[in-house]
Amino acid sequence: MRTSRFLLATLREDPSDAEVISQRLMLRAGMISRLAAGIYSWLPLGLRVLRRAERVVREQMDATGAQELLMPAVQPAELWQESARWEKYGPELLRLKDRHQREFCFGPTHEEVITDIVRQKVSSYRQLPACFYQIQTKFRDEIRPRFGLMRAREFLMKDAYSFHRDEASLDDTYQAMHGAYSAIFSRLGLKFRAVAADTGSIGGASSHEFHVLADSGEDAIAYSPGGYAANVELAPAPPAPPRPAPSASRESVRTPGQHSIAEVSAFLNVPPDRIVKTLIVRGADGGLVALLLRGDHELNAVKALRLPQIAQPLQFATPADVRTALGCDFGSVGPVDFPGPVIADHAAAALADFVCGANADGYHLSGVNFGRDLPEPETADIRNVLAGEPAPDGSGPLAIARGIEVGHVFKLGTVYSEKLACTVLDENGRDAVMTMGCYGIGVSRVVAAAVEQNHDARGIVWPQALAPFEVALVPINLHKSPAVAEATETLYAQLTAAGVDVLLDDRPERPGVMFADMDLIGIPHRLVIGERGLKDGLVEYKARRDEEAQNIPLAEATGFIR
Ligand code: ATP
Ligand code: MG
Ligand code: MG
Ligand code: MG
Repeated sequence: MRTSRFLLATLREDPSDAEVISQRLMLRAGMISRLAAGIYSWLPLGLRVLRRAERVVREQMDATGAQELLMPAVQPAELWQESARWEKYGPELLRLKDRHQREFCFGPTHEEVITDIVRQKVSSYRQLPACFYQIQTKFRDEIRPRFGLMRAREFLMKDAYSFHRDEASLDDTYQAMHGAYSAIFSRLGLKFRAVAADTGSIGGASSHEFHVLADSGEDAIAYSPGGYAANVELAPAPPAPPRPAPSASRESVRTPGQHSIAEVSAFLNVPPDRIVKTLIVRGADGGLVALLLRGDHELNAVKALRLPQIAQPLQFATPADVRTALGCDFGSVGPVDFPGPVIADHAAAALADFVCGANADGYHLSGVNFGRDLPEPETADIRNVLAGEPAPDGSGPLAIARGIEVGHVFKLGTVYSEKLACTVLDENGRDAVMTMGCYGIGVSRVVAAAVEQNHDARGIVWPQALAPFEVALVPINLHKSPAVAEATETLYAQLTAAGVDVLLDDRPERPGVMFADMDLIGIPHRLVIGERGLKDGLVEYKARRDEEAQNIPLAEATGFIR
């Protein structure tokens, strides 16, 4: 490919509205283009990367014996009513009406459609197990689309669904998918971790998520040296110790340092799984942390947000002040009597420390908005809360890392097959409800996650498996030097014949501009052809991660790359 014939839509300046590195770099590199909130076009350069990701996913899915199919993006409401998700799914489901006022949705996932196919087309237990997958565009009307491809509304997903006679068969396929996912993310050159996960709204018995580790990740995962690994949404809070005497507990909270959920729960005399919302404590690094503690079905999930930007003196007089200030609601604590004055004192004490004792009357935190004045809860740093706590399985102290959920495998059981009457005839000629699994990968999110993990000050550094081109061929003075032109064409032809994907930069640009563009778009290898080197039969080689270039014989260039 020649840059003169290719849409290289690189930008000199950073896009002003980019919130994370992948979004900034992919926009600057001209890989994607924003059409509307959470809706992006894939430009030719970006599409090459997406297709590479897809290819790896497809090869590993095929290797498990899964069969590829393609289901419609638009799905009739009736199917979703059958599964009872038409009501349950909420506003993330984009609902549409056709010209006859019939209701449809744009599929955010395809459990209903695949189950409908299988109940019609699969009739005998002999046809099981069966696993089907597609790589297809999904739409989820995310409440807060952001971070470019990471939390888009329209995005590309690989979704697979398996059907079984019994649990044991599901276990086998679940393990095979787990293995395939590990192979996919390894081949893509990503640092990732598989963690136990909540089954959320999809339901089912068991689930694991695959996370690409990156500080920009919206999820936090807790892991131990002994092999425990879970999304913190699942990681249970440590058991609460007996409640200390009030004065002692208040003292312990006043002491700068880390406060575990157990301490907090003991201090408030609220079981950890009943702590519902906000509380302010000092984090391990001395910074102030507001904890958003979710209760009940969400399993004591903890999200913390740090408040370093509050530089003015503050005072909370009552729990209502805290509620107003942080937009939180204490009302749902239920039968537990919320110890109002305690939290007020406690918060005031912690805040007083933080603001160097400026806990004076007349100072209030008011009119605060998440996102504007405080970090969004989802992006908050929970390191100070669970880090160092014992893992629930006793496998050592927990460490916390941030992760980007790129894949998710579920054991669904019979949730959908029962509702949709998806049965086969068993050996005795009786109807048997199928057992199901489902397995997703956010293919477009994977591409963004790869950039989050692989970049430097000059731009993207694609892992080999994802690179849009393998080699950037950059001639100096191509249009003035016949020697350079000839050597360039010869090498371009050789590389191409050897099956190397080359991008020849034949624009009449200054070398600095060409180098900057090739670095920005992240091509793993660069060959520079100049008149001076050619006199000695040399070209210059630099790997994208190298600081220094080296000279290599022109005659050996193709072999050097391969
Ligand atoms: P999240 O927790 O990030 O909202 P999810 O748990 O809702 O994701 P799943 O229903 O498990 O997502 O879908 C399978 C995969 O699809 C996810 O693991 C993720 O990689 C991808 N995905 C989900 N939502 C988005 C999105 N808004 N943009 C890009 N990819 C997404
Ligand atoms: Mg989601
Ligand atoms: Mg999730
Ligand atoms: Mg998920």
